[in-house]
Amino acid sequence: MAKITHDRRFAGHPALVTGGTSGIGEQIVRRLAKEGAHVAFCGLDDEGGQALEQHLCEDGGVARYIRADVRSDAEMAQLVAQTVAQFGGLSLAVNCAGISHLPLRLADIDPAIWRDVMATNADGVFYAMRHEIPAILSHEGTNGSGAIVNIASILGAKGSPWIAAYGASKHAVIGMTLSAARDYATMGLRINAVSPGPVDTPMLQRALLDIGDDHTKYAGGFPPSGPGRPDDVASAVLFLLSREAAYINGANLLVDGATAAI
Ligand code: NAP
Repeated sequence: MAKITHDRRFAGHPALVTGGTSGIGEQIVRRLAKEGAHVAFCGLDDEGGQALEQHLCEDGGVARYIRADVRSDAEMAQLVAQTVAQFGGLSLAVNCAGISHLPLRLADIDPAIWRDVMATNADGVFYAMRHEIPAILSHEGTNGSGAIVNIASILGAKGSPWIAAYGASKHAVIGMTLSAARDYATMGLRINAVSPGPVDTPMLQRALLDIGDDHTKYAGGFPPSGPGRPDDVASAVLFLLSREAAYINGANLLVDGATAAI
């Protein structure tokens, strides 16, 4: 079978990834850099972020780690400004930063945990888009190739027993993605969501430790083929960012090995 190659699909495109220091976001950063994008990425793990930046640059990529907390509108403004200053503009963005929480029934969730999950997963995507969108729209040369992908979850479109705060935050991500897609549909900017099922990352490993032997507490369930790999999600994200997806706007693409198909 012929090998599929997408070499340098994003050559010279300035890109930004939130939550690029681990798991799915890290793999998106790696794939974008490999395909020629100039990638800025944020997180809170400075050591890991700087090590990834160094590795990608030594490998011939163009990458820059910038520490920024997605829970802060001011830090998202600064992150976008630094990316634009570094790479001369912005045309692609992936909002991937996210957290989960201990398995608890809704009434047992501490309000501080609820607020932190909503601040990271929902406010964080809003703050990031609030600054990414004007930067992308004003980027000379975007020519209709501006694109944003928000990482939601299959739990953003159904009930999330045991992790209600997480599920609610992902409903918000899908809701704001669909609204924003309509807001900018005539301005050369596409905005889509990707909703992964279980993917083998540090977040999933922590969730499995938290639930112990009681797999009924794993809200999303597992697909017949087992958890996906970060690269499975990265492939879908890069497709949605690419020109091949030029007429896909306001979509919520499930990447879940049929987990949600029951
Ligand atoms: P992960 O390995 O734990 O990575 C989470 C990333 O988010 C890290 O880069 C982390 O940065 C960053 N982050 C968290 N809080 C942040 C904050 N306040 N400011 C900036 N960055 C922050 O998790 P993952 O599994 O790759 O998850 C990535 C996304 O996919 C999340 O939105 C998650 O909800 C979604 N998702 C995951 C699965 C799954 O099964 N893994 C399924 C569905 C959806 P630091 O480590 O540097 O702090």
